[in-house]
Amino acid sequence: MLILISHIGIGAVDLAAAFLFLYGLHRMSSPVTAPSGIFVAGIGMAVAVLASFLYAFDVGAAARPNLPVNLGLAVVALALGGGVAWWGGRKVAMTAMPQMVAIYNGMGGGAAGAIAAVELFGNKAPGAGALVMTLLGALIGAVSLSGSLIAWAKLDGVINKPVRVKGQQVFNGLVLLLTVAVGVYIVVASADKAALLLTMPMWIYIFFACALALGILMTLPIGGADMPVVISIFNAFTGLAVGIEGYVLQNPALMIAGMVVGAAGMLLTLLMAKAMNRSVSNVIFTNFGDVASTHKQGKIKGELKPTQPGDAGIAMRYAASVIIVPGYGLAVSQGQGKLYEFVKLLQAGGVSVKFAVHPVAGRMPGQMDVLLAEAGVPYDMIFQLEDINDQFATTDVALIIGANDVVNPAARTDKSSAIYGMPILNADYAKQVFVVKRGEGKGYAGIVNQLFYADNCNMVYGDAQAVLIKMIEAVRGLGLPAVA
Ligand code: NDP
Repeated sequence: MLILISHIGIGAVDLAAAFLFLYGLHRMSSPVTAPSGIFVAGIGMAVAVLASFLYAFDVGAAARPNLPVNLGLAVVALALGGGVAWWGGRKVAMTAMPQMVAIYNGMGGGAAGAIAAVELFGNKAPGAGALVMTLLGALIGAVSLSGSLIAWAKLDGVINKPVRVKGQQVFNGLVLLLTVAVGVYIVVASADKAALLLTMPMWIYIFFACALALGILMTLPIGGADMPVVISIFNAFTGLAVGIEGYVLQNPALMIAGMVVGAAGMLLTLLMAKAMNRSVSNVIFTNFGDVASTHKQGKIKGELKPTQPGDAGIAMRYAASVIIVPGYGLAVSQGQGKLYEFVKLLQAGGVSVKFAVHPVAGRMPGQMDVLLAEAGVPYDMIFQLEDINDQFATTDVALIIGANDVVNPAARTDKSSAIYGMPILNADYAKQVFVVKRGEGKGYAGIVNQLFYADNCNMVYGDAQAVLIKMIEAVRGLGLPAVA
């Protein structure tokens, strides 16, 4: 009776959790409803975790030896994991969010791999079909774990150069073949139970070692501009691995959550690949590690022309139209609040102001949209690349604030450039360009930006927030009345 009640209870609770995931995801489609969407999906996750405790009552007493010990271990693991995540989430700086997302994504892949390991070492997967699915989930999960950790190291600057050796792609292909061959051997050998018990643990270890190595080898060569695609691919991988392991465990909440994450990750991958102007297959099979590693740039023409923040601020106050291009440096300086204060001053003076957001600006998909939303910038002032790019040519001033790669004209003209072919924001077409950055630091792709040397461009050196404060003071100092 208890088993029947818990069986029905688990089904109902899993269904509720799945509904909360999907409803939360639906609310995440707009920045206005996204915060509540995240909250709803979080509740769904808590419900799914609690439901997993009901599984203990879903089987007969014989099938759950050591129940108190296992329940105790699960509670300790939850408290530890939840505690670390709570503390980390509260402490993390906005600029470190991409690294945190990469770590959490890797943990998801690792969790799927761990479920697969329990199934494989315990020889629980019933039949060849389930075994194949378990191994597939293990492979994708392990690749996502080790690949995401390398992505974390690259985003955090621990690894600051792509690591490439000759013949790397062939070697990676061989490691993939070896992993698949070991997996096939495990499936074939598992038919012979005696052989299984004697030799199988070693092959399972080899399988996981190959899969983990593959994730590392795939990610190490990826340089500069390709990282957004990689991050979203691992996101899709994690979802897929969790969904597959959910199928193996016959756990609907895992299946639905995994597939939702996998599908969302795949869509994000397509969007990021489009933003980089690469096909996904090109990124996965060709361009991983194929970007020119010793990019030589032609001789830079022109010179850098510094100007004072106050002068730039006043020039914008007298302009008719300004397009602002935010980038990673704005997040570093946390200058979004001051930026919007400056924008409101310009608008009060009758200046038309728009924001142009590049899909790979910052270090995480959507980071600039979140940053501007945080400052209270209305959504109808924020335009995506394809909706605004034609307007730069008729705009008085392009204000580039903490951005670099996303406005680098080398993407249009320099075939040897790591970002060649990537659509950029046409900020250089504006009549006047002001670039706010601290010095001559390069962007994430590590290449010089010819735009900064152009005749119509002036550099405003300093931390973005500090520069904006000076711009605000200068414009206020004019004492001009607001335009009705
Ligand atoms: P970039 O990384 O190209 O440039 C940022 C610029 O900001 C730097 O040149 C730096 O110059 C400046 N900067 C840093 N700190 C400050 C500060 N406190 N105040 C003012 N300026 C500052 O940024 P973009 O947003 O233009 O481009 C994003 C890049 O990151 C692309 O190459 C993209 O492919 C990559 N990427 C994107 C991901 C995504 O999902 N969006 C993920 C991973 C990588 P200086 O040091 O002189 O101040």
